[in-house]
Amino acid sequence: MRATTTCQLHMRHFSEGETITIEPWRANAFPVIKDLAVDRSAFENIMQAGGYISVNTGNAPDANSIPIEKSKSDEAFDAAACIGCGACVAACKNASAMLFLSAKVSQFALLPQGDPERRDRVINMVKTHDEAGFGNCTNTGACEAECPKEISISHIARLNREYLRAAVTKE
Ligand code: SF4
Repeated sequence: MRATTTCQLHMRHFSEGETITIEPWRANAFPVIKDLAVDRSAFENIMQAGGYISVNTGNAPDANSIPIEKSKSDEAFDAAACIGCGACVAACKNASAMLFLSAKVSQFALLPQGDPERRDRVINMVKTHDEAGFGNCTNTGACEAECPKEISISHIARLNREYLRAAVTKE
């Protein structure tokens, strides 16, 4: 099934009688299907490249057996709030999906459950992001300003650290 977004509405600030422009997301990686609908399958491809953890079958571990710092679990929870809407891409002059990608990498990088696949995850997800045609991040902050879930660009800084670490240590 294709993931689609139907339109982009910048309606937070407008005056009485002002002309409102409604248009589809503008990004090469989000081809327009028809009218205001775009194909967001590129996000699904990024997720399939590493946006998961592998869990062995068997008994569920005791909830208290893996202690996690409160600050880290809070940050991971904030990152996991990303709904994959694509507003960050549409807001970015480079059509970069780094805010989305960084949220998906962060939610696992902050938790011990994400550790076993940590290196391959970030390498493969960044590669898929670039191959899809999303642009580079130049730190304009437009993504954070438009994100309906208030995902912080601090996750992009973590993504860059994760990538560097993975690139240096990858065999
Ligand atoms: S705008 Fe926010 S919630 Fe939507 S995809 Fe981007 S990071 Fe996720």
